[in-house]
Amino acid sequence: MKNGLKIIARIFFIVVMIILIIFVYDIITANNKYKIEEKNLKIPIFVYHDIVENVEEVQYDYMQTTYETFKKQINGMINLGYKPISYTDLLDYANGEKKISKKSFLITFDDGYAGVYKYAYKFAKEKNIPISSFLINSKVGTPGYYNWEEAKEMDRSNLVGIYSHSLKHDEYDKYLPNELLKDTEESIKDIEDNLGHSINKVYTYPYGLYSKEGSELLKSKGIIQNLTDNKINQSKNLDMYGLHRMYPLNDPVWKIILKIEYRAIKYG
Ligand SMILES: [Zn+2]
Repeated sequence: MKNGLKIIARIFFIVVMIILIIFVYDIITANNKYKIEEKNLKIPIFVYHDIVENVEEVQYDYMQTTYETFKKQINGMINLGYKPISYTDLLDYANGEKKISKKSFLITFDDGYAGVYKYAYKFAKEKNIPISSFLINSKVGTPGYYNWEEAKEMDRSNLVGIYSHSLKHDEYDKYLPNELLKDTEESIKDIEDNLGHSINKVYTYPYGLYSKEGSELLKSKGIIQNLTDNKINQSKNLDMYGLHRMYPLNDPVWKIILKIEYRAIKYG
């Protein structure tokens, strides 16, 4: 009996030591940077919609996030060694031109809501971190959405990437590939005209709806595409024409981290 206990204690000690070593290794290598193919990096992309002041304004946890929750989530990630990166960083990394931190992640906002300018942009300036906003051209400047002046201000800060979320937020999986391409190209052109310079061709599907044929055509034109499927990008099979994004919802940071790790294994 005594021997049995000793063995269990020994196994327990070894397991604790292994966990401790992994934990310490993770902390001391958090700032290490890698080129693509050097190491299989998990690159989560967060998708938010609107940021609001009060919890009463939250109708759906995937559509509205309170400023308090948003700050807690991003600060928590940064405190754990995660570094927010931009789509330019990700593109350069995918092209083998740039190294990124072991724990990189992206922060994106769909639809172009007023809260992006009011809260997320404010926070991005405070922390000096990049964020990305996908706007709907027909909604810019209408009630509840930021206007072109605000878009230009965010763009000039070099902290906010302004990208396309289509002209009118339709169900584009029902469009013919050519119609989808026309809509996307017009949307990108309109953003470029308003900002006064060319932008990365990055597109996000409304409702995450897309067709294989449409996606192939956009890919042939070099248009980077974001999905909304709660999966995690991994550098070993990084697909810039089908980037995965996950909802942080109002989850605490430990839960977000667990979801990242779990989904990375589940969807490999
Ligand atoms: Zn949308």
